[in-house]
Amino acid sequence: MNRTVRPVVSVVVPLYNEAGNVAPLLERIATVLERLRPEYDSEIVLVNDGSTDGTSTAVRREMERRRNVVLVNLSRNFGHQLAATAGIEIAGGDAVVLMDGDLQDPPELVEAFVRKWRQGFDVVYGVRSDRSTDSAFKRGSANAFNRVIKRLSGTSAYPSAGDFRLMSRATVDAVNALPEHHRVLRL
Ligand code: UDP
Ligand code: MG
Repeated sequence: MNRTVRPVVSVVVPLYNEAGNVAPLLERIATVLERLRPEYDSEIVLVNDGSTDGTSTAVRREMERRRNVVLVNLSRNFGHQLAATAGIEIAGGDAVVLMDGDLQDPPELVEAFVRKWRQGFDVVYGVRSDRSTDSAFKRGSANAFNRVIKRLSGTSAYPSAGDFRLMSRATVDAVNALPEHHRVLRL
């Protein structure tokens, strides 16, 4: 059989106590990946960051009926950034999308991210156009955090950009080559 090799898109999602979100999240991600399927193969890498609810069970249930889901179970709760790091290291795609598991990041945007990547962009960010569902405290603390990071690193994160982004393989390899463990991936 003559099969053409398609580029692979990996979707990485860190999960901490997201049992209730797992099924709808995977449904929405799978729908987008199905649309991309004529041109792209895909995998979904779920990192269970020491959840104390039924997250792992919910993922296993989904894995019984989905072919391209990988589960990484961390031994305890390491925090969002380290869980994301673990997922990015394991992801094998030509492009790697990182998104939150609480459906704050609309999976449907992955299609637009992939299109931008194919135009040659190495990093494509999702930027929140409306933060009204975040509390004033959350917005204030996020701004303060970004200011401190800017002072320390000399690089500024795009305002209102979270972790939702696509990275090319070259970018992922560069990130994976950085040795530190306490990191902010947003810059
Ligand atoms: N998360 C994680 N480990 C943690 C806390 C959060 O893996 O210790 C996951 C969480 O399930 C979600 C993502 O990281 O998928 C972002 O977390 P959250 O929504 O709490 O962050 P926020 O949106 O407030 O920045
Ligand atoms: Mg969130």
